[in-house]
Amino acid sequence: MDSTNETVLEINLAHLTHNFKYLKSKLSENVKIMVVVKASGYGSDAAVIAKHLEKIGADYFAVAYVSEGVLLREAGIQMPILVLHPQPVNFTKLIKYQLEPSLYSARVLKDFIITANLLDKKDYPIHIKFNTGLNRIGFWENDVDFIIEKLDQTNAVKVVSLLSHLAASEDHSEREFTLGQINSFKKIASEMIEKLGYIPMLHQSNTSGILNYPEAHFDMVRTGIGLYGYGNEAKYDEELKPVASLKSIVSQIHTLEPGESLGYNRAFIASGFTKTATIPIGHADGIGRQYGNKKGFVMIHNKRAYIIGNVCMDMIMVEITDIDCKEGDEVIIFGPESGATKIAENSGTISYELLTAISSRVKRVVVVDDN
Ligand SMILES: *Cc1c(COP(=O)(O)O)cnc(C)c1O
Repeated sequence: MDSTNETVLEINLAHLTHNFKYLKSKLSENVKIMVVVKASGYGSDAAVIAKHLEKIGADYFAVAYVSEGVLLREAGIQMPILVLHPQPVNFTKLIKYQLEPSLYSARVLKDFIITANLLDKKDYPIHIKFNTGLNRIGFWENDVDFIIEKLDQTNAVKVVSLLSHLAASEDHSEREFTLGQINSFKKIASEMIEKLGYIPMLHQSNTSGILNYPEAHFDMVRTGIGLYGYGNEAKYDEELKPVASLKSIVSQIHTLEPGESLGYNRAFIASGFTKTATIPIGHADGIGRQYGNKKGFVMIHNKRAYIIGNVCMDMIMVEITDIDCKEGDEVIIFGPESGATKIAENSGTISYELLTAISSRVKRVVVVDDN
């Protein structure tokens, strides 16, 4: 029954298909889907995820850095790939791999045009990123004339899309702010289109933008977390299916006497007879210190076993006093049975961080292929 015999991250591609279709069902027919596979496909396996998404109809790919785009090209992905946050040092490589930059400042726009010219490019696809309130990266509204001036001086590049990013699309109490961001994006976009003389695609929504702001779908949406099965809200989490399951096994069981301590720095002291299980996963695998001391938990036979004491580099210890289990039994850290949201929230973080932290030491296994 339990097939898990070491720590593994299982990837369920049928769930990926389900999530893709669910998100697509929220869009008008002509809206394209850009799938965000940065950070190793949110901690899973970017190449496996991207190949599947290409097969089931993704229109565009997005990664954060050039190296992530190169990895997709080397895995055979043919679709357009947007690099959200490139640096000039990588522009030659970006062009060599036919990746498309999001250009977000005068520094990177000028540098990209120089590189594209040096490489004799004509109409090389670029994307212009505007800041509408996140204040992270992006041109400001009053940069439009500068951008147009630079673009008018060259035919090395051509603008494929204008984009912006929402700061609080999952946060219903920030509705007014978000609507303000949407309006300012519309205003910037119409000014850009008028001055460019042609019409690039527009996109502003991440997963929660898709789910909460139909007025911000424009020509394309960018979805990350939703594809992987999380919707930033209980009602959406119910509709989506986690793609990744992090599983491990009970390595050893101990019984502590009252007053005995457990783990480094003796952070846990048993108040009564306490049964504990040691599990071969630790902070070097992506289970950070913040999950220790009864914040995070794992599931053993469908029961919560809280992490006690400090998280070690290669191990955690959980309390199993009331759980009937034995050495070798399966442990689920997160997955469809027990989503990453709850353990993350209990530990003061979000599903995004828990998922993307799972380190390369953890073996990735595709369990449900969906042909
Ligand atoms: C990561 C990222 C996304 C995806 O966001 P989700 O909330 O995971 O859907 C979209 N756009 C930009 C600019 C991003 O950096």
